[in-house]
Amino acid sequence: MNGFAGKILRVNLTERSIREEPLDAEVTRQFIGGRGLGARILFDELEAGVDPLGPENKLIFLTGPASGTMLPGQTRFIVVGKSPLTGYFGEANCSGSFGSELKRAGYDACIVEGKASTPVYLWIKDGAVELRDAGKLWGMATGPTDDALKAEVGDPNAWVACIGPAGEKLVKFACIISDKHRAAGRTGLGAVMGSKNLKAVVARGTRPAQVANPDRLRGVVRFLLDQAKNNPGQQNLGKYGTSGGIPTLNAQGILPTKNFQAGDFAGFSKISGEHMANTILTGTIHCQGCPVPHDRLVDMKDSPYGPIDGQYGGAEYETIAAFGSLLLIDDLVPINKANEICNAYGVDTISAGTIMAWAMECFDRGIITEKDTDGIALKWGDARAMLAMLEKTCRRR
Ligand code: SF4
Repeated sequence: MNGFAGKILRVNLTERSIREEPLDAEVTRQFIGGRGLGARILFDELEAGVDPLGPENKLIFLTGPASGTMLPGQTRFIVVGKSPLTGYFGEANCSGSFGSELKRAGYDACIVEGKASTPVYLWIKDGAVELRDAGKLWGMATGPTDDALKAEVGDPNAWVACIGPAGEKLVKFACIISDKHRAAGRTGLGAVMGSKNLKAVVARGTRPAQVANPDRLRGVVRFLLDQAKNNPGQQNLGKYGTSGGIPTLNAQGILPTKNFQAGDFAGFSKISGEHMANTILTGTIHCQGCPVPHDRLVDMKDSPYGPIDGQYGGAEYETIAAFGSLLLIDDLVPINKANEICNAYGVDTISAGTIMAWAMECFDRGIITEKDTDGIALKWGDARAMLAMLEKTCRRR
């Protein structure tokens, strides 16, 4: 079946069983891509009323028909499960090469069921699959977890999707981090992974994805690369990242500001992608085969908010809006520190920032006070208060 590996991996952590199932070609035609297939599997297999953090919930990692091919942008993967944040269908989407590796390792999807009695990780290599002990990784931030797992499996080219301490502690907006700075961010699926005692999935595959007409696909790739090279929008994306559009959003009155009380922010130019490129940006990154190096990198040995560890990347638009204009913070340094904290603990920057904005509005209106915040004066624009509260949130203190 071209475009697909043709197999689904099913891992039951309670029983410690691992088995392969054939992929139903008809289902893949009816339910497009990883998101479609994942929604269909959940719909078929989950009982109504399942506790999202109970062993009955399922966590599914999925690829699509383009994953593992030479197409730019194909490296993304999807994770689905019942969301502990919304109680509804949860889906998150992540860049990096984990998806390509999973496909090349022989699987279109990996369904994780049950709950391990002790922390484990799943190691998938070219069709060989094993559950391994993750006891010594429990409690570790995502960066050292990634390094430790690559060393343990003895392959620096393996790709890791893991949780940090926030997922272990079941923070309801915990995410799954891949490559230390890429997030399957939304809907709290990191907490579902934590509830299963699953610290990480590590994938490595060397089998090329099968495509029906490689020459024609090569032509499409050439066309897309040409477009990217000559398109001013794509060039700006490479130069300024996703936050390059902040001045436009501000002019249009749709930059999320002061917990959505406003749509424009006086300090917008200080949090723009252009300002970041001209000040604290230390590099850019891009996914395998993608011509647009839009991922930001900020590495600071020292700052008024402490060092910022470059392994956790740099803030993208959503993070900058969530920890910047939404909180009336006009300084990219604490915003990038917040990005580092979120990626290290494994929490979704969008949910973390918007919850902070809601709490700041509650504080402003006197609905909550320092008695509720453990002494932190959660005032609009106060970056130190934001960082202190974020650390507490990530640790569920
Ligand atoms: S670098 Fe950005 S645009 Fe390119 S594939 Fe990765 S996430 Fe997509």
